[in-house]
Amino acid sequence: MSEKIKRKVGIHFDRCYKRHDTGPWHPESAARYRALSAALEDLPKTFVKIPGRVATEQEVLLVHAPWYLDIVRQDTENFADQLRTGDTAICSESGDVARAATGAVLNAVDFVMQGELDSAFCAVRPPGHHATADRGMGFCIFNHVAIAARYLQVTHGLKRLAIIDWDVHHGNGTEAIFHEDADVLYISLHEAGIYPFTGSAEEQGAGAGKGATLNLPLPKGSNGDVALRVWDERITAVVKNFRPEFMLISAGFDARQNDPVGGLRWADKTFAEMTRRSVALAQQWCQGRIVSVLEGGYNPDGLAVAAMAHVKALRG
Ligand SMILES: [Zn+2]
Repeated sequence: MSEKIKRKVGIHFDRCYKRHDTGPWHPESAARYRALSAALEDLPKTFVKIPGRVATEQEVLLVHAPWYLDIVRQDTENFADQLRTGDTAICSESGDVARAATGAVLNAVDFVMQGELDSAFCAVRPPGHHATADRGMGFCIFNHVAIAARYLQVTHGLKRLAIIDWDVHHGNGTEAIFHEDADVLYISLHEAGIYPFTGSAEEQGAGAGKGATLNLPLPKGSNGDVALRVWDERITAVVKNFRPEFMLISAGFDARQNDPVGGLRWADKTFAEMTRRSVALAQQWCQGRIVSVLEGGYNPDGLAVAAMAHVKALRG
């Protein structure tokens, strides 16, 4: 009987994400959102639609520096086409859209913490995992997953959180934010030797956070079986030892085969398998609680198919 009980999964998507205009030919484009939202629209009604909200300034400040918020405000108000801190294309609405993305993730966290959902997937943009406390870069403005981790601690009183990041790129922003933090476990599977050129296995955190960072760089061209083997050999034991109370996933889909940016060759079923493993770990340690947040994935149709595999596997 128990294996027939489906987990209650929330999904979030909102047309506001189309307003973040990165200009022509940019891989992080509204076309990604259009393909993904069309697929999410087709899911059965058993997937609960989570409404959005705009994160407050105080919530964004849980992670980001006040002067960085000023930079985002000034650059968008001045119609800059690039954030001055790095390679993030912006338009005048990008700061507002990024705050809406963060707010939606926090809403999903609330739904899961209130027990209305077991887990949730948030199809937001811009992505977040390259953003540090005071620097937007790599198409990212605010680090939604990092803010959600702090929000879980401050608002919901949790202590120990796990972030699993399977975007093809290392989440340098998330790692930096929790570098010296013993209570937030950061695990990254990513392609070795590509942007942002961080995330070597030797980076394991520092100070009190030593050992709470696990980087698992994978060789260029490797397929999903390699990643799943690394998962089984390394990730399962580390999560078990850490005993997190909640799991956040930085769900990038740019490790998928035929992605124009990433150089790994994961299949759609790789994302389903990783999701099943995440659900199993969350059920063991986190009362099943997972909030997953879209990061990269630059083949719009491929992104939609891989994300559907992920969302369906969240149901168990
Ligand atoms: Zn990426």
